[in-house]
Amino acid sequence: MQKVKRAKKSAVLDKQLTAGGYRFTSQRQHVYDVLMGKRDHPTAEEVYLRSKLGKPEISIATVYNCLDALVKCNLVKQVKSERVAVRYCPNMKEHSHFYCEGCGMVHDVDYKPTAHQVQLPPGFQASQYELSMRGLCSNCANKRS
Ligand SMILES: [Zn+2]
Ligand SMILES: [Zn+2]
Repeated sequence: MQKVKRAKKSAVLDKQLTAGGYRFTSQRQHVYDVLMGKRDHPTAEEVYLRSKLGKPEISIATVYNCLDALVKCNLVKQVKSERVAVRYCPNMKEHSHFYCEGCGMVHDVDYKPTAHQVQLPPGFQASQYELSMRGLCSNCANKRS
């Protein structure tokens, strides 16, 4: 588990939180730093465990509250998949996700499907495209071969 550096007030974070109607707090900064520190799409529970390393006094309720604020202010997005808990991703560039069935890790894939690649039913307008892929990551694929 990697160490999270001491939170420094980030101007971007401050600006985005204010724009979203939220106050800047050192907890929100901390939770954001935790997400940026290791971009492996942790669940709220995992974010909580990592946040405790630098801020032992933080509670799970506070972590949920911080994640909620970060999501609402477009600093982090929720990654939902039917079978697992909601995960959090600080990569705000449009991208797709690869779910490894071996180790359960979620990886970013730099691929964004576009309107002309997808046949939508007539009259439908998509505001977001996200492709989800499943299979084995390179580590797991190597282990099996
Ligand atoms: Zn894997
Ligand atoms: Zn992602």
